[in-house]
Amino acid sequence: MSIADPAPRNPLFNNPLFRVTRFLILQWISGDEKLVKALYDSYVHGVPSSVLAQRYGFTTRTITNYRYRIGSICSSTNLVTTLMKIVFPYIEKLKPIIEPVGEGKVMCRICKIVMPESAAKLHISYSHRKLLNELALKVLEESGLLEKLLAKQR
Ligand SMILES: [Zn+2]
Repeated sequence: MSIADPAPRNPLFNNPLFRVTRFLILQWISGDEKLVKALYDSYVHGVPSSVLAQRYGFTTRTITNYRYRIGSICSSTNLVTTLMKIVFPYIEKLKPIIEPVGEGKVMCRICKIVMPESAAKLHISYSHRKLLNELALKVLEESGLLEKLLAKQR
């Protein structure tokens, strides 16, 4: 790392498994728990998108889009499936920081800002990046994956 580097980042933040975990946590704490459950069913149980769309009230396209986004972070479907199995029980325990306040609006529990539902994920990504990274580290640590990922890095 050069001295000029203003903010040395945790090299783990570039790890695809870390990034997928953080991506899933972002969806979950944004109050989109159904989406994470649907993705879990899709990867782990191989439930077809059309069935999931009906079960959770999404369009088939939503599931496909999110699978595509996850695939662009980690191209190995097998690895994502294994990761999901390991981290989902821990993500499920997290409390969403976005809560619905009616009329398509939501409130961030941390800064008490009310915003349109569609802005929630962007808000967390920008304003609560540190928390997101911390939660991802916490989930990976609790699940026992962090140690393995760090061992790989050495
Ligand atoms: Zn906030």
